[in-house]
Amino acid sequence: MKPGGLTDPRSGKRPFAVVQLRKEDVDGRAYNLVGFQTKMKYGAQRRVLRMIPGLRDVEFLRLGAMHRNTYLDSPRLLDNHFRLRALPNVRFAGQITGVEGYVESAASGWLVATQNAFDLKVREFSLPPPEMAFGALMGHVLGVDKVHGHPHEPQNVNWGMFPRVHGVKKREQKSARVARAIAALEAWAGAMELPLAANTRNDSTAVGVHIRESELGDTPGKSIPSARN
Ligand SMILES: Cc1cc2nc3c(=O)[nH]c(=O)nc-3n(C[C@H](O)[C@H](O)[C@H](O)COP(=O)(O)OP(=O)(O)OC[C@H]3O[C@@H](n4cnc5c(N)ncnc54)[C@H](O)[C@@H]3O)c2cc1C
Repeated sequence: MKPGGLTDPRSGKRPFAVVQLRKEDVDGRAYNLVGFQTKMKYGAQRRVLRMIPGLRDVEFLRLGAMHRNTYLDSPRLLDNHFRLRALPNVRFAGQITGVEGYVESAASGWLVATQNAFDLKVREFSLPPPEMAFGALMGHVLGVDKVHGHPHEPQNVNWGMFPRVHGVKKREQKSARVARAIAALEAWAGAMELPLAANTRNDSTAVGVHIRESELGDTPGKSIPSARN
């Protein structure tokens, strides 16, 4: 609901929050409100959601509910090839390992599949370093950030997973982390002999240097609307 990159065309101002409506039928009569998983009682949901401009007279076809994730205690059960320690011919990827979200699950799937391909070709595979979103997220799955006594829980990729860039002011931390992540990606992909599809160095000039800190959302990459949904 964070209005990153969006401006109200009527006022030219950034709105406090936005609601994404995702079309659910061909006629465009049914819409899903993205991100409204909630424990609120149905009556309260109807009352509160009707306060959103444009939704006062809607008919509710389905109300929000919490969903339950089933996932492994990966730090305990998986080795750093994402194989079951007890049954190493079985690998896990995606949400079941403790990542959450489309991008995160696809990233995990790609990484584990690539690792599998390397193993089949008897090639050495190094996990991406924690300076990269990939490495930070996979570190979470493997329990690198796990606090003793706290259970392993699914996470979206977030800035808190990245190590701080030393000697950089707080308000420049995010852009410094982006620039460092791109450099780490290039070094890692080079060492793994994995081709990079885009010219990340040119992109990094756009992302790391020219994007204002205020446009970098709470989640890396989330500043671009629709990047996650
Ligand atoms: C209501 C809801 C809204 C969400 N909204 C968003 C969002 O807006 N943005 C976002 O980034 N993420 C969202 N998520 C989270 C996102 O959907 C998941 O994190 C992601 O889809 C997980 O991908 P996955 O491939 O790891 O697992 P899944 O998508 O769960 O895929 C697992 C697949 O395995 C199949 N399967 C299970 N058991 C077996 C079996 N024994 N044999 C064969 N196949 C089996 C299942 O049928 C399923 O197709 C949402 C989740 C929910 C529930």
